[in-house]
Amino acid sequence: MTRQAPHKLPVTALAGIGAQTAVRLQKLGIQTLQDLLFHLPQRYQDRTRTVPIACLLPGMIALVCGTVEFTDMMQRGRNSVVCRISDPSGMLSLRFFHFSVQQSQQLKPGTRLGCYGEIRQGYYGLEMIHPEYKVIADDITVTETTLTPVYPLTEGLTQSTLRKAVKQALALCLQDPESLNDWLPDSIRQTQGYPSLSEAVQTLHNPPPDITSETLQNGDLPALKRLAFEEFLAHHLALLLGKHQYKTWRAPVFILDIAAKRQFLANLPFQLTDAQQRVIAEIETDCGRHHPMLRLVQGDVGSGKTLVAAIAALAALSSGYQVALMAPTELLAEQHYRNFSQWFAHSDTRIVYLTGQLKGKARQTCLQALADGSAGLVIGTHALFQDSVNFHNLALVIIDEQHRFGVQQRLALRAKGQNRGLVPHQLVMTATPIPRTLAMLQYSDLDISVIDELPPGRKPVTTSVIPSERRDEVIARIEHWVAQHKQAYWVCTLIEESEQLQCEAAEKTASYLQQVLPNVRIGLVHGRMKAADKDQVMQAFKQGECDLLVATTVIEVGVDVANAGLMVIENPERLGLSQLHQLRGRVGRGSLESYCLLLYQSPLSLSGKQRLGILRESSDGFVIAEKDLELRGPGEIIGNRQTGQIQFKIADLSRDRELLDQVQTAAQLICRQHPQAIEPLVRRWTGGSLQNLDDLFATVYSP
Ligand code: ADP
Ligand code: MG
Repeated sequence: MTRQAPHKLPVTALAGIGAQTAVRLQKLGIQTLQDLLFHLPQRYQDRTRTVPIACLLPGMIALVCGTVEFTDMMQRGRNSVVCRISDPSGMLSLRFFHFSVQQSQQLKPGTRLGCYGEIRQGYYGLEMIHPEYKVIADDITVTETTLTPVYPLTEGLTQSTLRKAVKQALALCLQDPESLNDWLPDSIRQTQGYPSLSEAVQTLHNPPPDITSETLQNGDLPALKRLAFEEFLAHHLALLLGKHQYKTWRAPVFILDIAAKRQFLANLPFQLTDAQQRVIAEIETDCGRHHPMLRLVQGDVGSGKTLVAAIAALAALSSGYQVALMAPTELLAEQHYRNFSQWFAHSDTRIVYLTGQLKGKARQTCLQALADGSAGLVIGTHALFQDSVNFHNLALVIIDEQHRFGVQQRLALRAKGQNRGLVPHQLVMTATPIPRTLAMLQYSDLDISVIDELPPGRKPVTTSVIPSERRDEVIARIEHWVAQHKQAYWVCTLIEESEQLQCEAAEKTASYLQQVLPNVRIGLVHGRMKAADKDQVMQAFKQGECDLLVATTVIEVGVDVANAGLMVIENPERLGLSQLHQLRGRVGRGSLESYCLLLYQSPLSLSGKQRLGILRESSDGFVIAEKDLELRGPGEIIGNRQTGQIQFKIADLSRDRELLDQVQTAAQLICRQHPQAIEPLVRRWTGGSLQNLDDLFATVYSP
């Protein structure tokens, strides 16, 4: 058996870590010794010096050394034990609410104690409540030479367990040249002024006394920067590698069927825009090659990406291949299914629909049709890529609204379609523009096409910002609007975390609106409804059998009803601007004069006012995203799901964003001069999250 490098060892290899602790550590994402080393302290305690009692102030956290004067049981209020200690400069009380007999015996007069805790103003002067303390013999020092790390914990885990574990892990890994090997080329380290990897890790776990917790938090510490930089770099390299690998594979070549395409276009009620045509041409060129396409189509809400996808699908289908289209929500998948069914009605293509909700016989039939090739096109949610789904000859994978999926999910899909040595082409579509520096961590593996034009005749949506006090006015406006046989949306938003509350709010709003608007036909959709029920409501809305659709943000992406030209968004101040822009994109899709009313909860902060103002002034998704970034700082944008959830161990996109500027250059240097560093770096940082990493390296490195 080959020897396992220490950093790869499971935590149970350490003394004092049993199965139970291992389970707790796993909750923090810690499985190996390397994970432990990358589990950084959230702050430090300073026990490197003792503070004379006379210098203590309330609020300080300090190490104090003193001699016990007396220990007393106090009966006033809650039972407690108070122990008075003194040093040459003054007196301090230690107060314990939980204590054992043993403990109070130990604290007898004359005993020397080292105590660590927060100083408070007590009834009898300064005191520490439940300090950590140690009885000290004359020859023992209480001070420590480095700051004491305080780690993020989880239930059942103590600081002392973690500290001991990290200490052991450090000792083991420092002995082994492989474990903390520095894969950053010297030249990069020197120009950036970074310490070596082992120095960095040691500093962060045992920092010298002159480092403060603040330096750690604001990211100014070279040791921390170095780790964050390396992590960014590794993620970027993983994408480059993925692209490189993908491009070495072979893909089915599509043969364009000009007649079929002409027929398809002739059946459309409109002409393609120039931008659509250009992007379609780029896709067709890619798919005419022997190597797989990896293309991102970016286009603002309503720019007509779905049709571009359909024409790409047509190219695959008319070449005799299968196509899979994945959407982030059932609602959108269902709508695509209907649209594609209509667009391909004149062909003999069989289209199937597959989501997690499809069960039993229907699911079997669907899977069978995909496996034997009788279905050419499948549309669904991420359920499409479960293990049980097999394709006959999948040649094109289309991912709509890619920002709702993670990078990892996208990479994982690539292996899926492999078939007799051929891999499918990949087309991903998004309406969410992200800044270039961030694109590096998201899209480095993709070629990019932009649809920079909206179909003609679109009227910009008139947006107004209205305080919640004028709710009645807004309701009256809906009544008036609906009376003209036009439809409207009422969107209930709440903070992301609580889908349930959001759904409840939508239910309440719907019943309230129904009370005050008895003549309006109101429908309700939210995320907790059964797929079939959602679909029924959506169809009713689409067919004009319902006038007002009360919804949660489930309708954010894709929903397309041309006669709905009025949208009320509640609590818009709680959403990101790009998300609001997406939502607003549900109206203004036909030739109807359209309106979006942002019904905010007053009072609105100044920055809230500015942000909603941007939305009122602009209808350009790119401008909005940029302004939003300016006003909020990148952290908040990244913090939400709009950029596809990369899980970093150490790096923080808002704190460490400036590091990204150097990542690309460093990656190029490594690819050119130190290619041997790529694999270990990618493994070190993305090993846990990329399941197909081994496949990746096998393909890239095998001859
Ligand atoms: P998105 O880019 O947001 O996904 P969609 O593909 O949903 O946009 O298209 C929005 C609407 O515009 C749809 O109703 C679609 O049929 C219509 N559409 C697409 N292309 C054109 C075009 N060239 N001319 C007119 N309408 C179009
Ligand atoms: Mg779309």
